[in-house]
Amino acid sequence: MILTLSLWAALAAPATPAPDAPAYAQCLLAAYPEHLCGADADALVWCDGTRMPWRTRPEGPLDEASLDQADLHDQMATPYPVGPWTPPPVGDPGRARSQAFFEKLYGASAAAVAARTVKVAWPGGQRLRVSTVAGAHRALAQVAAELAALPKRFHRFFDVSAGTFVWRHIKGTQRLSMHSFALAIDVAVKHAHYWRWAKPDAQGNRPYRNDFPPEVVQAFERRGFIWGGKWAHFDTMHFEYRPELLHPACAGR
Ligand SMILES: [Zn+2]
Repeated sequence: MILTLSLWAALAAPATPAPDAPAYAQCLLAAYPEHLCGADADALVWCDGTRMPWRTRPEGPLDEASLDQADLHDQMATPYPVGPWTPPPVGDPGRARSQAFFEKLYGASAAAVAARTVKVAWPGGQRLRVSTVAGAHRALAQVAAELAALPKRFHRFFDVSAGTFVWRHIKGTQRLSMHSFALAIDVAVKHAHYWRWAKPDAQGNRPYRNDFPPEVVQAFERRGFIWGGKWAHFDTMHFEYRPELLHPACAGR
């Protein structure tokens, strides 16, 4: 197991899901104990009493169009391969998200999200705006400290960030970028590869490419951030705070 215990030790004791809740419910309750207070067979229960159903779309595989309708079940269904792994990626672990979940957690407008942000010092000297919800700002500060301590040869992969908080939709879609919620960070654009930039081969596949070293990726994963470089629709400069996918009970190893 690669993930350090410190990520979970810093959080409050989680609520216990009902016996008939899906297995992934405990990962959500453990990751967001101050916001989520229960789970049963049909829904996630927020501490304010709101019930959010696991499924809000007809069952079936997601494609690029139906990603806009992804529900909580989709969000949790694909295990994220934490720690060392072998490329190329299989599927897009973490790329399906319930927008309703993140709007409720972090804020449903630019102003609501911005009201709960602080600036975190980044190793290259920038100060990056990050949400304080669910301890995202503390987690990013810990990533920054861990990255700063890496040997100098790694620093070109994170020293310059292309941004954290921008309220915007993903190009060509109906859904908000995770940067809208001030929980994502792009680093080292110069060394990045992105599936939309890749030239399709004769079969229409876009060949996977990555230059980011595992030392950098794992500094993020240890503090609750998943990496877009582990998606078949790869986005190697992109990291986002998704502790629910890194819980030992939900991460694929
Ligand atoms: Zn990004």
